Amino acid sequence: MSNLNFRAARRAPALFYCLFVACVVHARAQSQSMNVPAEWMTPAEKSNYRETPTYEEALAYARKLERASRLVRVTEFGKSGAGRALPLIVAAKNGAFTPEAARKAGKLVMLVQANIHAGETDGGDAGLALLRDMAITHTCERLLDHVTFLFIPVYNVDGYVRRSPYNRINQNGPAEMGWRGTATNLNLNRDYMKADAPETRAWLRLWNEWNPDLFIDCHVTDGADFRYNVTYQYEQHQNVPEPLLSWMKSAFDSRIVPATEAQGNLLAPYLTLRDSRDPAKGIEGFIETPRFSTGYTPLRNRPGLLIETHMLKDYRTRVRGTYDLVAATLEEMNRDPESLRRALRETDASVADEGGSYDPARRVPLSLEFTEKSEPFLFKGVEYRVEHSDVSGGDMVVYGRRPVDMLVPYFNEARVTASVAPPLYYVVPPQWSDVISVLAAHGLQLKRLAEDATLEVESYRFSDVKWAPSSFEGRVLVTQKSTPVREQRLFPRGSVVVPMRQPASRVALYLLEPESPDSFVAWGFFNPIFEQKEYGEAYVIERMAREMMAKDENLKREFERKVATDPQFAKSARARLGFFYDRSPYHDAQLNTYPVGRVTTPLAAKMIEFR
Ligand SMILES: [Zn+2]
Repeated sequence: MSNLNFRAARRAPALFYCLFVACVVHARAQSQSMNVPAEWMTPAEKSNYRETPTYEEALAYARKLERASRLVRVTEFGKSGAGRALPLIVAAKNGAFTPEAARKAGKLVMLVQANIHAGETDGGDAGLALLRDMAITHTCERLLDHVTFLFIPVYNVDGYVRRSPYNRINQNGPAEMGWRGTATNLNLNRDYMKADAPETRAWLRLWNEWNPDLFIDCHVTDGADFRYNVTYQYEQHQNVPEPLLSWMKSAFDSRIVPATEAQGNLLAPYLTLRDSRDPAKGIEGFIETPRFSTGYTPLRNRPGLLIETHMLKDYRTRVRGTYDLVAATLEEMNRDPESLRRALRETDASVADEGGSYDPARRVPLSLEFTEKSEPFLFKGVEYRVEHSDVSGGDMVVYGRRPVDMLVPYFNEARVTASVAPPLYYVVPPQWSDVISVLAAHGLQLKRLAEDATLEVESYRFSDVKWAPSSFEGRVLVTQKSTPVREQRLFPRGSVVVPMRQPASRVALYLLEPESPDSFVAWGFFNPIFEQKEYGEAYVIERMAREMMAKDENLKREFERKVATDPQFAKSARARLGFFYDRSPYHDAQLNTYPVGRVTTPLAAKMIEFR
């Protein structure tokens, strides 16, 4: 909270300053590009920020950098769904171009990606300019002293080649841009946990190989009009391990954001209006689940910074804002590489410890929601009024240009709505091969049972299972109520064991705990367990029901009470017969039972390496 007060206080004196922001940014950007030799202007600079390059033009510029400089290498990290190369540009000093070489040379590794939403092109043009200033003009070469810089200029390649002037209705340029979804119309920024897209699988391989120390994802907003040219977000609630959270708070809020503002930008936390027609009602922060890239990297114990430039600002101002924020982050990593290294070491160790011993009282949050508590925030908006609309028939907000500063409530305090104590191991039966393939894709260290084993496990039985009314990201989301159970279960040879004493254990926790919003259960990976496969014919159950009641007076009374007190039940022949089927030995004991086990005592079973 003190952090928020600090932020409001820090911004307060800048009341009139922002009037001049746009022109300051503009003048500085022009003077910077004037120092660049004409042949090294990026495609966006050459077009005076009217255009963003095509996939081929962006790659051609990267290759030109590679030919001219020993600091740049262009490679690829996989293929898109439609088979296009996913480009990766590596910038490094002293030949630290591989994960091994970077570690050996003591370099931090930073991964920046652009165009995960291929209509939001700002990061691509910012990154090419930054690489040029590292490798050609040398104004940013020092940013590679302690860092190997990995840059994905176009992540959603298939979306990027679906170019049109009409892909981003809210956005002020460039002239043409790519499309949000992949070739199969998946949003890669919802795919980080379920990993359905080949692009995500490739990204996870890249991540596992490099284990970057810091990650940035570049976007452009939708939403309200205001004066900030850049908004930013990092996960900052109870779901982030302490050493990581405290590094991000002090680095981003106290140094990186002010340094970016000193370059002539105006920054705010990524925000949503509580009431889209009235900014005065307050703004809300953002809670990212790990389906988002910058919600995912904290599960890998690494800082993730989301950059969202403001869609209505001109393209130059947005690209320069992205450039400045990425450069300021690099600046901070170079200034004090050891403090980041220490925070990551401590985070890795504390998360591995969570799974190294079982303590039912030590709970890790799985989902969060905002409370009604707020802090005052000085919001740098623009004038607006609400008018009646003949078109929509409702109210509409009309924004003007005059700057208006408003003290508004900022809702950014979260409370935990679901949490769990991590077990020592999860055990997944081998037939759930899609689940196992996703666990492996996330780089988790896995084992297999060498022989059949009967294990005492905790697990869940589900009730109130509901499917969403429409498809989301190619899947139909499932909600349910889980009731914990403890029982002996036979796990066949080959069952996959996830030991939780490992740095990435929170990924396993968020995938395998059904209450997590990005769990396998929630994304529908376990749908068949909710399906009843055998049914009794009515005339068969009729006979059985009479026999059961004759033998069991209590059962008879229970049935009669239910008929008397539950009118829905009383008028459904199917439910009344089902009452007896469910209580008979013919009932499927595995129905609605989670096949995954949680083991909370040391495992004696013989295990072999995962293959
Ligand atoms: Zn986006």
